[in-house]
Amino acid sequence: MKPLLPLILFLSSLSFADLSKAASPPAADAMPLIVIDPGHGGADLGATGVTGIFEKDVVLDFARSLKKRLEMLGTSRVVLTRDRDIFLSLEDRVRFAKKQNASIFLSIHADTITAATDIRGVTVYTGDDRPSDAEAARVAEAENRADAGLTAPESKIDTSVNDILGDLMLRETRAHSILLAQELASRIADVVQLNRNPVRAAGFRVLRAPDIPSVLIEIGYLSSKSDIDLLTSADWRDRTAERLAAGISEFMTRTRANSAKSTPKVKP
Ligand SMILES: [Zn+2]
Repeated sequence: MKPLLPLILFLSSLSFADLSKAASPPAADAMPLIVIDPGHGGADLGATGVTGIFEKDVVLDFARSLKKRLEMLGTSRVVLTRDRDIFLSLEDRVRFAKKQNASIFLSIHADTITAATDIRGVTVYTGDDRPSDAEAARVAEAENRADAGLTAPESKIDTSVNDILGDLMLRETRAHSILLAQELASRIADVVQLNRNPVRAAGFRVLRAPDIPSVLIEIGYLSSKSDIDLLTSADWRDRTAERLAAGISEFMTRTRANSAKSTPKVKP
């Protein structure tokens, strides 16, 4: 571990904001960019609900509500990976966020579980090669299969981390992602039914950007008629989106404040 020490010291002197800034020219518009990723689309329908509704449509509606609420706060710019019914591979989504130099990446999904139609609620996931529990592993496996057979194998990209610097960056980013997930779960706790263990982690391919705090929100279960009633209600979407937007804004303010505190550091 000895040769790693100078690198670790160097990295610990950098905040996430420093790392993302280093990769891009100074933007004319200084507001941070949030990328919202409605899961699935086009030939990839996602889960099918007990009423016949498709996940790809439910999550697009929700993503639009969240974008609107975030824009109303006026503290960030927001783009969607897709704003219509088109197919995007999981790698395309990560590549898009990296290209846009996103400050936060939020992937929106809706789960389904055939074994139990009474399971309901919202779960916020972060990326981790070691799943927090068997249920998280199941969800990640299902979501990772989303574009199987619909995308060419060679479209796989460099989201894997293959050097020490990248590995350390990924670890720091994942720590941020967990903070974001906890903030979001606590914000929505009184307006939605949360899964009994609402913050979990697993190896989602779409959460592999090494330098962008990323979470995947399963906004409910399409196997539950009660959840479908909520997810298709404009009122529920708006109330939930409002809370999530407030949580995202709070997270950004806090991480910026922390990075400002640690700014006067000497770089090698
Ligand atoms: Zn999904």
